[in-house]
Amino acid sequence: MRKMIVLLVVAALGVWRLWPLPEAVIPPGQALPAAQAPATLRFALLKTGAATTLEAMVVAGGSLFRPTAIGHVAVLVEHPAGRFLFDSGLGTAIDTQFGTEMAFWAKPIFAYRQVRPAVQQLRDAGVAAPDRIFLSHAHWDHASALGDFPQAEVWVPDAERDTALHGRPPAFLPSQFSSPTLRWHPFRFDGPAVAGFPASLDLFGDGSVVLLPLPGHTAGSTGLLLSLADGRRYFFVGDTVWNHRGIDQPAPKFSISSLIVDADRDATWQAVLALRGLRDANPGLQIIPAHDSSVHDTLGYFPEYVMAAAR
Ligand SMILES: [Zn+2]
Repeated sequence: MRKMIVLLVVAALGVWRLWPLPEAVIPPGQALPAAQAPATLRFALLKTGAATTLEAMVVAGGSLFRPTAIGHVAVLVEHPAGRFLFDSGLGTAIDTQFGTEMAFWAKPIFAYRQVRPAVQQLRDAGVAAPDRIFLSHAHWDHASALGDFPQAEVWVPDAERDTALHGRPPAFLPSQFSSPTLRWHPFRFDGPAVAGFPASLDLFGDGSVVLLPLPGHTAGSTGLLLSLADGRRYFFVGDTVWNHRGIDQPAPKFSISSLIVDADRDATWQAVLALRGLRDANPGLQIIPAHDSSVHDTLGYFPEYVMAAAR
C-alpha cells in the first residue's frame, strides 16, 4: 500500500509535465547485415524477479491507472562456440544488497518480489553455469548475481567498469563489485560499424551474436543483437527503454525516473530514436527491453529456449 501511494504521488508529479516531451525526429535506419547463424544457436530468458508498477512510471505519457508488469531477466545464450549470460538478474544476495545499500526513498520505487536467482534455476535444471557474463550495464538489478558465478568473467566496456566502480545508490550498489574474486574483462568495440552503430563486437565471427554500443542510460550501456538461423532477429537493449511503448511511440522514460537512472538523458533519447529507426528499416526485428514482461512473456522462460525452427 505504502508503495502504491509513493508511486502515485511520483507519477502524478510527472504527469503535471515538469518537463515537456522532447521532439521525436526518427533518423532513417539502415538494414542489418546478413548473419551466418548456426542452426543450434538458442537463448532462454531466466526470470529472476518481478515487480508491478504504473505505466506512467516507466514511459512518458503512460497511464496513471494502467499497471505494468516488470521482469528482471538474465538471458542465457548458447552458441556452439560458447555459452554466456547477458545480464545476471537478481541474485541470491539481493535482499542483503537492497536492504543495506539502497537509498531509503528509492526502496518503494524499486521494490521487487518472486526472486528466483539464475544460479538456482540452472542448478535445478542440471544446466552448467556459463563462464562469461556480459552486462547490458552495471546497475544493481543487472549486476546483483555476479557473486553467484565466481568462475565467470564479467565482460563490460572499459567505461562501464569505471562507472560501476565509482557508482552509488540508487543506481549502483557498491557491494556487488567489492568481491576480490570478481573477474572483470573490459572490452572494446573493435569491430566495424553496423547499421548506423559506429562500432561492434562480433563474438563468434559469424554475425549471429553481436554486441553494439548504446551509451546514454550509462556510459557503457551495451545492446545484444541475436540472429537465429531461421532469420529471426532479437535486439536486447538493456534499459535504453523500459517498455516497448518507448519504441512504439517513441517516448523517453517518465521524466522523474529518467532523472534518477539515466546518466545522459539526451543521449538516451537519441538511442531510443535510433532504435526506432533501426526497427523501421528491419521489419521483424524484435526489440527487447530488459524489464518489459509483456515482451518477455511472448518468448517464454527457461527451461524453454527460443531457437531456429527446424527446416
Ligand atoms: Zn534495469
